[in-house]
Amino acid sequence: MARYDNYRVYNVEFSNEKHVQLFKELEEQSDSMSFIGHPREVGQKLSILVSAHKVADLTLLLKHYRVIHRILTYNFQEKIDRSYSSVAAVGTDVTKFDWHHFYHLETIYEWMNSLAKLYPNLITILDMGGSTQGTAIKGVKLSHKNTNKTIFIEAGIHAREWIAPAAANYIINNLLRSNEQDIQNLAKSYNWIIFPCINPDGYRFTFECDRMWRKNRQLFMTTYGVDLNRNYPVHWNSTGSSTDPCRYDYAGPSEGSELETQRLIKFIQNNVNKEQIRTYIALHSYSQMIMFPYGYSKELAPNYDDLKELGQRASVAIKELSGKIYTSGSLMETIYPSSGGSVDWAYSQGISIAYTIELRGPPDSEDMFLLPAEEILPTAQEAFAAIRNIVEGAADKGYYK
Ligand SMILES: [Zn+2]
Repeated sequence: MARYDNYRVYNVEFSNEKHVQLFKELEEQSDSMSFIGHPREVGQKLSILVSAHKVADLTLLLKHYRVIHRILTYNFQEKIDRSYSSVAAVGTDVTKFDWHHFYHLETIYEWMNSLAKLYPNLITILDMGGSTQGTAIKGVKLSHKNTNKTIFIEAGIHAREWIAPAAANYIINNLLRSNEQDIQNLAKSYNWIIFPCINPDGYRFTFECDRMWRKNRQLFMTTYGVDLNRNYPVHWNSTGSSTDPCRYDYAGPSEGSELETQRLIKFIQNNVNKEQIRTYIALHSYSQMIMFPYGYSKELAPNYDDLKELGQRASVAIKELSGKIYTSGSLMETIYPSSGGSVDWAYSQGISIAYTIELRGPPDSEDMFLLPAEEILPTAQEAFAAIRNIVEGAADKGYYK
């Protein structure tokens, strides 16, 4: 097991160009500091996970260059221990599946199978095919009526973002079992295809080896993993991705190089017309953002105004539900430039309602990807409220006619 004893999380702010340059160099020089996003511009704030042996050096650098900063966490291993303590053991009875624990891949799949058994007329198990290590990429289709338009939801493309698969599972459960009439109407008016774990090898790796793993598990000589959300054939490797296999945002050796990417592309291309897929949602964490294309360009998407309006509607719904603030805008203007993402690709396939939702916590979260278990349920409810408002808003605008 990878350990992070006495690793710290810093949040730094770049007051001038010199600071930006300093942190660009630091990121380039050392893999002992994990940056959450790249240093780009003055005014930017960035969280960095700093290994224990680098703390002394960094402390002096921050003082020397007068960098405004906060220490968010002093011993990251404590967060990791807490995260693992909230995992339901392998072999857990899936009739007790809940939103107070995180679950192993096998348990999630077993739970999905149990739903298909309980609701054979509503739930179909889908299988995109095998991952790099031969793990099935499974999802469910919830359908009351064959002719419905379809909402597609993916989660878990980034392995360590455990709240994303948990939220996807909640959405399946809520659509299937909620007693609320409005939610039942939503479940009946659309077909829902939901893949909670589209990077199953990576997800498994975060349970067995390294809680902070993000990419898939493809081997490149001495190092592992492609960032699957930089691997799609849409302006591939043009901005906000790396050509170095050691980096967290490695785009891969070529566009669409990874099996997981190919599986999803084939699934969407085979089904976009057949299933009338009109909406594509990708769940991630963290930062509390509701974002839409493009990630690779400042250019505005053709239906930018609609996407912006629906994103704001979703943010307002979340604020009313829980008081949490989710910011909304295009991927490029809201979070950072990135290319080869699944949502940009889905949008390029004619799916014109396409969103990436970054769930809790806030951009300066001290937990980073290790959301406490007591926040699973409220966060999943926020995801549901966002998606519901996007879909209902898009329906009002005639997107599902
Ligand atoms: Zn992510």
